[in-house]
Amino acid sequence: MSNFIFVTGGVVSALGKGVTSASLGAILEARGLKVGMMKLDPYLNVDPGTMSPYQHGEVFVTEDGTETDLDLGHYERYVNTTTSINSNFTAGKVYETVIAKERRGDYLGATVQVIPHVTDQIKEFIWSGSKGFDVTIIEIGGTVGDIESLPFIEAIRQMGIEKESYEVAYVHLTLVPYIRASDEIKTKPTQHSVRELRAIGIQPDALVCRSELPLPEEHFDKIALFTNVAKKAVISAHDADDIYQIPLILKEQGLDQIIIEILKLDAPEADLSEWQKILDLKANSKTTVKIGMIGKYVDFKDSYISLSEAIRHAGFHVNANIEIIYVESEEIQAKGINELAQLDAILIPGGFGDRGIEGMIQSIEYARLSKVPFLGICLGMQAAVIEYSRNVLGLNDANSTEFNLKTSAPVIALITEWQNSDGSLQNRDENSELGGTMRLGAQECLLQEGTNARVIYGNDSVFERHRHRYEFNSNYRNQLEEHQLTFSGFSKDGLAEMIEIKDHPWFIGCQFHPEFTSSPLRGHPLFQSFIKAAVEYSKKK
Ligand code: GLN
Repeated sequence: MSNFIFVTGGVVSALGKGVTSASLGAILEARGLKVGMMKLDPYLNVDPGTMSPYQHGEVFVTEDGTETDLDLGHYERYVNTTTSINSNFTAGKVYETVIAKERRGDYLGATVQVIPHVTDQIKEFIWSGSKGFDVTIIEIGGTVGDIESLPFIEAIRQMGIEKESYEVAYVHLTLVPYIRASDEIKTKPTQHSVRELRAIGIQPDALVCRSELPLPEEHFDKIALFTNVAKKAVISAHDADDIYQIPLILKEQGLDQIIIEILKLDAPEADLSEWQKILDLKANSKTTVKIGMIGKYVDFKDSYISLSEAIRHAGFHVNANIEIIYVESEEIQAKGINELAQLDAILIPGGFGDRGIEGMIQSIEYARLSKVPFLGICLGMQAAVIEYSRNVLGLNDANSTEFNLKTSAPVIALITEWQNSDGSLQNRDENSELGGTMRLGAQECLLQEGTNARVIYGNDSVFERHRHRYEFNSNYRNQLEEHQLTFSGFSKDGLAEMIEIKDHPWFIGCQFHPEFTSSPLRGHPLFQSFIKAAVEYSKKK
């Protein structure tokens, strides 16, 4: 049975609980432990799939096709764990399950209450997500003191007193603000936050104190005294130059050792030299390339967090500094492509709905004609097919039925709506279960011989994750191939997965999201090759 580390947060949100949990996971993994990661979210949405990227950031898709919170992306980037449907539960999911049980009569007439029924359900979910691990790190979303998170905090409190066959540790992340006007560091919010946690019955074993600057010595004493936490378990998590430095910062102060002792685990010292190597690679990067990310949610950077991290990972591995220039695609529509001239590569990320599509298409035309390295992901690949169909095939009305249901050239369409070029409908029975639903999760992509994609991946088959409803309409395949568009990858059932242009230094579109499987230590072949192409382009410019 797994041991448990519960990570709560106090004072304010957005302190980096996800990155802290993931970093602790990375250190424990480096100590030879099998680490599981979970996130419990207090909001009432049943899953984050329908939440706006503006409000909640990216939806991270797991290998098994679950739409989850973006923190799971941090977990997979730091820890070699593969998250799943059992790794992220929301209050909505908990209540939905409890109410379904009540309707079925499972509670045998009992009055259904937060304690014990809701808390029991939370514990059941925790059990299901922790199977097979030596230790599971469970991050509780929100801030201690929120009404919504109370049942979760209560459930993890109960686990602390019920333990028999496992051990439990509580880590609390707080803010230690620096007040510029009085030039003082303030520990009071931390004291209050721990008091709030203790009022519910949880005494934290370790405090991770987020601060702008390293905490001065006297503050460790003060925080320890007022919170009843051992001084050596008060950790200064000051701002880092890079989020991948955090495992090193936490280990240096012995957070992992404190946890190992509480959990009574026997594990050798962590060797974090791989993490140090990544930071050294970054420090020694010579060139800087400007990568333009042209999308529709660019105002809120968390909307593309896996993608921007994947690009940075690639930079580490090809020795290039990355400057990501976020461009609102509607701006291109309104003001033209002038802003693109500064870029060394263009990337169009995934997205939903028609806003900004024409700006993306204009940018793709520029990348294609000016031979600027181009990567189109999901919607980006679909837009590239539309651009090619319009400007090379001369199908001026070419579009996706997501943006124009009445288009005379539906080059991208819902599978159940597939039309022949003459407008008649075609039914594809073998795929009909995909129609109208999202294609989600990891699927095999068969890479075609003689293509750039196959060379880049160094393999004839890869598994990549999907999250989309629309597909390339294969009725247009012959026409496009006759005009030199190459289809370099297909799903097992023949859906187009990748496109490329031979007569271009680097032009690739993929229907899947390679960013979900990139990590700083491993990188990702597609992004590495893309950034290499950007470096070459920048030298020639
Ligand atoms: N909106 C497109 C679709 O549903 C693309 C989705 C995406 O980019 N993730 O197919």
